Parts: sequence; C-alpha cells; structure tokens
Amino acid sequence: MSRAFNFSAGPAALPESVLLQAQSEMLEWGKARASVMEISHRGKDFEALAAEAEKDLRDLLDVPSNYKVLFLQGGATLHFAQLAMNFARPDQTADYIVTGAWSEKAVKEAKPLTQVRIAASDEAGKFTAIPPRASWDLDPNAAYVHIVANETIHGVEFHTVPDVGAVPLISDLSSTILSQPIDVSRFGMIYAGAQKNIGPSGLVVVIVREDLLERCPKSIPKILNYAEHAANGSMLNTPPTFSWYLAGLVFKWAKAQGGLKALGEINRQKQELLYGYIDGSGFYRNPVEISARSWMNVPFTLPSESLDSVFLKESEAAGLLALKGHRAVGGMRASIYNALPLQGVQALVDFMRDFASRNG
Ligand SMILES: *Cc1c(COP(=O)(O)O)cnc(C)c1O
Repeated sequence: MSRAFNFSAGPAALPESVLLQAQSEMLEWGKARASVMEISHRGKDFEALAAEAEKDLRDLLDVPSNYKVLFLQGGATLHFAQLAMNFARPDQTADYIVTGAWSEKAVKEAKPLTQVRIAASDEAGKFTAIPPRASWDLDPNAAYVHIVANETIHGVEFHTVPDVGAVPLISDLSSTILSQPIDVSRFGMIYAGAQKNIGPSGLVVVIVREDLLERCPKSIPKILNYAEHAANGSMLNTPPTFSWYLAGLVFKWAKAQGGLKALGEINRQKQELLYGYIDGSGFYRNPVEISARSWMNVPFTLPSESLDSVFLKESEAAGLLALKGHRAVGGMRASIYNALPLQGVQALVDFMRDFASRNG
C-alpha cells in the first residue's frame, strides 16, 4: 500500500515533507532529548517554537502589528459562541450573512448569547451563491458582521472582502486560510480551525484587532476571554503543543512554496482544471454560481445517484480518497486544500473522465 491522494474535507491532507519531518523528530526534538509532545509549554524551547510559528504566520498573512495572533482550542465551533460572548453587546444586534451550513451553525451558536440578525441569506437559493452586497440589510450600529469566508460543505466562497463600513467584520476562514493572499486589515477578527489548511485538529488560530479586545467582558470566564488569552501569549492553560508544533512546520512549508502568492497561483490552477472539466463534461455538475465557487471544496453530482456508490468504490481503488459528498448536499466533494497537489487534481480529472466514458 502507498499514500493516496486524499480529498478529505477535514481533518485533511498534510504536506508529506511535514509528516516526514515530524516522523524524524518524533523521539527527539531539537536538543530536548525528548519528543516535542513531552516537554513543558512554559520552557524556553517550546516558547521559542511558539514565537517562531507566530512570526511565520504573521509573515505569510502579512498581519498588521495592531493585530494579536492567538493559538487556541475548541475548534471553530467553540468560537461561534466565544466570539459572541466577547464582542456582542446587550443593546446591539450582531449581523450574520448566511451562505451555507457553517454560517447557519454560527448563527445557532450565537443566538442564545446575543440578538442575532440575518442581514442576508441564500437559503432560498439552496446556498449556491453569495447574496449581492447591495441586498444586505446591515445595521450600522451592529456589534459586528459575521461571514464564513468559505462554506466547506456547500462549496461557496467569498472572493472579495465585503465592505461593511465601520462595523467590525468577523470571518470564519477555517477552510480557506493560507490558500491565497488576504488583506487582514479589512477584518476585525478572523479565525480558523487548523485541520484544513494549517495542521492537525485541536488548534484554532485567531487573529484579532487589538482595539476589539477592549470589548471583552470581565464577567465571562477567563478561559473564554480573548483579551486574557492575548495577555497570556495563548498560554492561560496548556495549549495543544503538538498541533502548534505541526502548524509551525506547515507554515515553514508554505513559506518554502513561495508564500501565499505562489500557493494562490497553484490553487487557481487546481480549481480551474477541476471546474473546467466538470462544466465541459456533460456528465458531472456543480450547482454553484461561477463567481462564488470555492477554490478549496468542490461539490459535484453525477447524472444519477445510483452511480454514487460505484464512483466511490472505484475512485478509492484508484487511490483517490474521501470523495463522498456531505449528506446535506449529496453527490461528491473534492477538497483540494494546499497540501493536495496539482497532480492530485489531474489524477482525479483523469479518473472522472474515464468513469464518465464507461457510465455515460
Ligand atoms: C470544519 C469547519 C468548522 C468546524 O470546525 P471544528 O473544528 O469541527 O469546530 C467550522 N467552520 C468551517 C468553515 C469549517 O470548514
């Protein structure tokens, strides 16, 4: 058996060179004479690792100096609630743009904590487009506006940062962070679970503008307070040290690829190849409006659901893993994050072409 091309939506493929380096350092990391998993997070060796990972991430995303970078836990899901606890105000609403399953979930988690307003939604369109900015019903006094930059399940992505005026824009970038350059200064806060483009699960990266931290209420538990985490270098308690270490290796890998401009160029080619083939195939179909198609998660259907199980069985045998679509959408989904190379997409397209010729 050998490693296959892994199209998993998350936890997702990691760069092979990163896994090999982790393997070679598993028993003894640096001069520690122990695994990186076996040393104190408060020792100077791990502190240096943590600082270097933060610096590399800041370099990659060109994070302005008035933003804090936090390495936290709880998955993006905890932050759906945590961001509302920190930034909502009893006398203010919080505006949500609903573009798919993850923004729906963000709404559900925030609702017990604040006055959620749905300022725009593509539910009626079955989440196949981003509602045009001109149609958004934003409250200029809202505490924040929340978007999900890339809907991992529906395959819908914002390709420009929407202008929401002076209200802080908060975005879940779990499945698109590091896939191409973004202008961090347009956001009040961005956050991302690690297990798509950063590293193993268990880690969440939060990048937050410093002035917003002044809003974090003293009345909530410290462990949920972003300002407390920022003041304590993300080490209020024991952080997920191995995930942090692996994220650091992924950041080095991303830099070695040429940074986000170079990765963005490869990702542009990958999605062009796959959508181009799907659209011209007369067999497969992707329902998302072209301007809103995700570069990272590509859902597609076959002409008949009865072919799904055959497609999955044969693709797996061909070394193409985890193509089953999410139950909310059906069909297939190819997640083509940074660690999935262009050759992997080419192998998928070759398989799809062959499958269509045999089943069309
Ligand atoms: C995967 C994902 C999540 C959930 O992450 P957890 O770590 O399971 O909490 C949230 N938002 C988006 C956009 C995702 O892709």
